[in-house]
Amino acid sequence: MRFSDETLKDIMNRFRREMENGLGHDTNPTATVKMLPTFVRSIPDGSEKGDFIALDLGGSNFRILRVKVTHDKKQPVQMESQVYETPDDITHGSGTQLFAHVADCLGDFMEKQKIKDKKLPVGFTFSFPCAQTKLDEAVLVTWTKKFKASGVEGMDVVKLLNRAIKKRGDYEADIMAVVNDTVGTMMTCGFDDQRCEVGIIIGTGTNACYMEELRHIDLVEGDEGRMCINTEWGAFGDDGSLEDIRTEFDREIDRGSLNPGKQLFEKMASGMYMGELVRLILVKMAKEGLLFEGRITPELLTKGKIETKHVSAIEKTKEGLKKCMEILTRLGVEPSDEDCLAVQHVCTIVSFRSANLISATLGGILSRLKENKGVVRLRTTVGIDGSLYKMHPQYARRLHKTVRRLVPDSDVRFLLSESGSAKGAAMVTAVAYRLTEQARQ
Ligand code: BGC
Ligand code: MG
Repeated sequence: MRFSDETLKDIMNRFRREMENGLGHDTNPTATVKMLPTFVRSIPDGSEKGDFIALDLGGSNFRILRVKVTHDKKQPVQMESQVYETPDDITHGSGTQLFAHVADCLGDFMEKQKIKDKKLPVGFTFSFPCAQTKLDEAVLVTWTKKFKASGVEGMDVVKLLNRAIKKRGDYEADIMAVVNDTVGTMMTCGFDDQRCEVGIIIGTGTNACYMEELRHIDLVEGDEGRMCINTEWGAFGDDGSLEDIRTEFDREIDRGSLNPGKQLFEKMASGMYMGELVRLILVKMAKEGLLFEGRITPELLTKGKIETKHVSAIEKTKEGLKKCMEILTRLGVEPSDEDCLAVQHVCTIVSFRSANLISATLGGILSRLKENKGVVRLRTTVGIDGSLYKMHPQYARRLHKTVRRLVPDSDVRFLLSESGSAKGAAMVTAVAYRLTEQARQ
């Protein structure tokens, strides 16, 4: 699980080839990294304003937000939000139920905000791979992460949501844009920093988007300007191109997942699987007598008993070992001090691998941007959101350092985007709204 810089550069180059395959007309149909056009052509220019609703579905929480964009210098974006539960029977049930639930929550939110009589423009952050031919249409390619509702793949989620809202009949909504969470993140950061042209998520899942030259996007007409591409890098490796670095633990994670054979890069790097990777390694070590004097408890053998938030806690500099003792004690393995030290080390290896892998793919995007611009030194900003990146005590620093090593001739600014994924949907909607208003006048 530990890679030399040489290996990381090799992975970076492989990813660059995958990107090219996704963009090319002949290679796209069979490409694993889909490089989906988003129909977002520019970052906000600051002239946007209005009152918007944003839905954020597919991250660690389902949230609904009301976002007001003003020209106020101090606080141009104001928001109020509410989190709604999405229990397993909803995410794994029928698509009709899922969208009825979303429409119910939206109705509840509008009621509480006292805006049920208004038809506010809605931006929908839908954090899954979608094929788009315009901003307000998004056909789900495949579910990922914890979602597997039936009858949604291959369908336009705007139609499904509109249908569910109509069925209720007690309020109206105008869904103007569907954006991936990476795009939302990039747009939010772009509001503060015009140089932002990459958005990444390192949370339950992982993915990135960036601004590509339109002349390189075979799937979209036109050669002038740029368009944001949702890379869907989580699927990197689904064609076998990462087999040399996948381990027995990665294979076991995949076998027990909702989507075997898919999102193989995501399963090595994102938050949804990190705790489980650690647990599988501990089980193997215990079985070999390398930990807990060989003690194996039913808790240790239970899927999901070690979560990514535990990995984050264990890697805290000061109290990490104490946390480790608590967490392992709860699993009933009666750990010694040496066990805790070893388990902390395992956590570091697994989380460091994730940061390294994401550095390699991000390095691929940055080196492409640099080539696109034809500059000797790349100056750019990367907007980032996601629970793993935000919560893990060492993750961000390791990622930044490795990226700077892999792409030496660059000044990369990393901008944390608080609630970026959802706010960005409002931002995209604001731009779309400004454009339609302008067209109407
Ligand atoms: C999805 C992406 C999303 C990422 C982060 C992945 O599983 O395929 O669309 O951006 O998770 O939420
Ligand atoms: Mg999110």
